[in-house]
Formats: sequence, structure tokens, C-alpha cells
Amino acid sequence: MKKFDVLIIGGSAAGLSCALILGSAVNKPFAKDKKIGIFAHQKSAALNNAELNNVLGFKKGTKGNEILNEGLEQLANDFPHVEQIHKEKVVEIKRLEDKSLLVITNKDSYKTKIVVVAVGPSKMFDIVGLTQYVESHIQLPIEKDKIMLKNFNHLIEEGIYVAGILAGWRSQYAIAAGSGAQVGTDILTLWNDGNHTMIHDVIK
Ligand SMILES: Cc1cc2nc3c(=O)[nH]c(=O)nc-3n(C[C@H](O)[C@H](O)[C@H](O)COP(=O)(O)OP(=O)(O)OC[C@H]3O[C@@H](n4cnc5c(N)ncnc54)[C@H](O)[C@@H]3O)c2cc1C
Repeated sequence: MKKFDVLIIGGSAAGLSCALILGSAVNKPFAKDKKIGIFAHQKSAALNNAELNNVLGFKKGTKGNEILNEGLEQLANDFPHVEQIHKEKVVEIKRLEDKSLLVITNKDSYKTKIVVVAVGPSKMFDIVGLTQYVESHIQLPIEKDKIMLKNFNHLIEEGIYVAGILAGWRSQYAIAAGSGAQVGTDILTLWNDGNHTMIHDVIK
């Protein structure tokens, strides 16, 4: 069975942003040997239907589905050590006796120390092992009938984070991406013995 240090579930604004931050720490000693993976499932992404005219840096008329494709390419080109797992949907997360987590998909199983759940706020959420954390979304209109996972600063329980709109944030691209990036830096901070960590590249 493949083993990871962190597995991100969901390949949209939040999941890909989290993966890019984690990937960008590749040269840091505390992150050097960490095995990072992302379930790059995009079929049910809200972003598929979005035209983004209010995101800093995106040209007017930017299509969400283009960003989804380009995001996977960006991750593959810039941080190829981040493993992209395609065409698999997570169905269950189980805590193992050694406290690590078993992530079960419709095709395979993986062992990991940390999971980031970034699957969007659909009421259809049915990942076994996490359904006890489902609550009505607190920052979306009630008639949208969306859900979130109960969390404190994105942490659901030890080793399990939620990111993006499923964490209880309002649905805007920049907010979802920021939430994923925040979780990425939370994990880097954990790996860096609790020292607050950001990854900044500087113009040479
Ligand atoms: C029609 C429309 C227009 C929009 N327009 C704008 C706009 O103009 N400006 C703006 O800022 N925002 C806009 N948004 C909002 C924006 O698209 C969302 O806020 C953003 O996409 C949320 O990102 P997310 O990563 O939290 O969730 P999502 O984009 O919903 O992504 C969740 C991901 O998880 C994957 N997934 C789901 N279940 C599983 C599973 N079991 N296993 C593995 N993967 C799974 C999905 O396939 C998907 O890729 C719009 C949204 C819609 C629907």
C-alpha cells in the first residue's frame, strides 16, 4: 500500500492551492522527504461553471474550467514530486491503531499521517468516517442548502484538516484558495516543529 505524509482530497481552488504551498517547500529541510499526494478529482468542482471576473490577477472572462486544467499542469511542472492521483474518489477515512489514517477510494487504499478534505460544500457529502462532523453551512444563504465540516481553524481532529468552502467560508474563488493555502502553511508549521512557516521566493 502506498504511504504518504499528507493526502489532499479535491483538486479545485482549495485543494490545488494547498498542494502548491506544500510543494513549494521542497527545498526546506523539514519538508524535504515528505511524501505529498492529491486526489485530483475535478468532476464536481463548483469552479467548472464559474466565470471569474473578480479575482486579482485573472483577466476578465477567465473560465474556471481552464483554471482547473492549468492548475494541474502548474503543479505537475513546478512541483512534480507532488503525486497527482487521478480518477479516484474518496469514499472512506479510517483511523488506524498507530494513529495514522487509511484513505479508501473507489479503486484503492492509501496510508497517510495527514488528510486535507477540500471537496466543496455539497449536501451529497458522504465520506464515511467524517459524516459526524457535517453541519449546516454558516456563511452561505440557507436556501442553498450547503454543508460544512465542524472545525477549529480548519482542524477537524488530529491530522484531519478541512479547506475551502467546506470549512465554512463564503463561496468566492479567492477565499477557497486562501483557505487551502492557510492549511498548507499550517502543515508546514507543524513539520517545522511549530515555528510559523511561510514560503517566500524573492526576485533575484
Ligand atoms: C456558477 C458559479 C459561478 C461562480 N462564479 C464565481 C465568481 O465569479 N467569482 C468567484 O470568486 N467565485 C465564483 N464561484 C465560486 C467558486 O467557484 C468557489 O468558491 C470555489 O470553486 C470553491 O472551491 P473549493 O475548492 O472549496 O470547492 P470546489 O471548487 O467545489 O471543489 C471541490 C473539489 O473536490 C472534488 N471532490 C468532491 N468529492 C470528492 C471525493 N469524494 N473525492 C475526491 N474529490 C472529490 C470535486 O471534484 C472538486 O474538484 C462560482 C461558483 C459557481 C458554481
